[in-house]
This record gives sequence, C-alpha cells and structure tokens, in this order.
Amino acid sequence: MNRNAQTSSCPGWLSPDGAGNFQVIEARAKVVWRIFADTLRGATAHSIATALNAEGVPVFGRSKKGWGRFYILKTLSNEAVIGKTSRKYKNGRVPNQYPAIIDEETFARVQSLRPGSNAQTMRGKNALLEVSNILGGLAHCTRCSAPLGRVTKKGKSYLVCSTARVGDGCIYEMLDYNAVESAILANTRSLITSQLAKTEDPAVRSTLFDLRGAMDVPPLNRTLVNSLMRQALSRVDVDSANGLVLLSWKHGASSELSYALPKEEKPKVVNTQLITVAKHRKGSSTLAKKIAR
Ligand SMILES: [Zn+2]
Repeated sequence: MNRNAQTSSCPGWLSPDGAGNFQVIEARAKVVWRIFADTLRGATAHSIATALNAEGVPVFGRSKKGWGRFYILKTLSNEAVIGKTSRKYKNGRVPNQYPAIIDEETFARVQSLRPGSNAQTMRGKNALLEVSNILGGLAHCTRCSAPLGRVTKKGKSYLVCSTARVGDGCIYEMLDYNAVESAILANTRSLITSQLAKTEDPAVRSTLFDLRGAMDVPPLNRTLVNSLMRQALSRVDVDSANGLVLLSWKHGASSELSYALPKEEKPKVVNTQLITVAKHRKGSSTLAKKIAR
C-alpha cells in the first residue's frame, strides 16, 4: 500500500499507528458523527458547540475554551471525514488516505446546507444525486465494515462499499438499494413493535413511535425517516451473501430482515464475520444465536 501518511498532522479523531496507517478513535468519531447529524437536523454550529461544552465532551485538541463554532464549521467541511486528504495531486485528491468515518452522501448533504458553499464536493454526479437514502450514514459493509455509499446507475440505486469504490481492497458489489429499503418498510410494524417491547426508556420509545409514524405514512419522507433511524439505530449491516439486513438498535437489541435470497457461494465466511460483529455489540447475543441457528 502506498499511503505515505503524514502522521504529523492527522485529524483529531484518528491516531497514527506509526506505520503510515490510522486508527479511528471511536469516541471521537461518534462526536464527529453527532456534529453532522445535528447539523442535518437543523442545529447551528454555535448550538452544537454549546451543547458539547454543556455535556462536558472533551475537545480533540488542546483548546482550553472548549468547543467553538469555528471548529464545528471546520469539521463539517473537512473532507478527511470521508477519508480524503488535503494533499493535492494533479487530478484531485488521493481518496481514502484516512479511514472514512462519514459516508459521502451525508457529507454532500451537509455541504449543500451550508450557505456560501461552492459545493466543491457536490460536483459531477453527486450534484444531481437526489438525497433519498433512508440508510444514509448507517449502512455498512459486512466484509470490511466501511460505510456503504449510494450510487445510481441507469435510474436505479445501489449500495456500494466505500472501500471497494476507491479500489482499496473490498469486493465491488452493487447491492439493490430498493430491495433493502422495501424490506425495511414492509416490516416496519413488526420491527418497531418488537423493539417497543424491549425498552422502557421514554426517549427511545418516543423515537421509535416517531419512526414508525414516519415509515408508515405515505408519501415517504426519506430525510425524516433517515434522521429518525439515525437516532434509533447505531448501524445497519447489509449482508449480501445471505440477503440479510441487520439493524443494530442504540438501546442494545438487534433485528434481522431478509431482503434477497441468499447466495450459494461462501456463506460460511460471511457468517463467521457476522458472529464476530455481533459479539462486539452490546445485547446482540440473540443476533449471534439467530445467525448461528
Ligand atoms: Zn467492504
């Protein structure tokens, strides 16, 4: 791998491993994700900074003044969150120098919200891409755990592993976005009802009720559904080998849905990975059992 990483100046949510690669500092990546999510919900940089300070969230750097509006704004426009570096080459930036912690669609959405943005990252295909992915910021590849981005081809939407997209090792496979979305929407009632039975937390229950309402009432408002899904879920894994969608709820439980027929080849390998993923997650023993069954 030709990384030539500049370890001296890496983004605050990453830690250099000395060998030219970077590890994601999960707690900080979560803060960055929250900055993006809150912005999409309409929060200003000032209000996000105020909230982070009020909650005592540690800053990434050495600032003694805590979180500031300028740092929030800088983070929102920092392409390092989608894995790009600022090292410029003739034909643009070198993709995936850093591990991506925000999917490109979410990043593009935030750029489009910012006044005065020259929408540099929205150029080309992205500029025309309609924001309509209910899994934005949630979908991950079961093979390498990288975010799944949405691509459109001949009017159809697909989810593609962001690692594979930049030719960095994973398998380039186009997963049928509409099949995944349909499976989730077709199972809204049972999905949400089963989760409501698992939590007493009023805030979680309120989000689940809102999500059920948003999914159930046509016409589907995908921006709203996505925003509520991101409040209720920590991640969604799309396992193409087994045709499964795995939803990891923030309150600890997991749900599994079938969106396509399982493929014949190599189901064993993917199963092992899923069980590994499940083991790392709180409250997911039922998921591991389910898969192992
Ligand atoms: Zn992958």
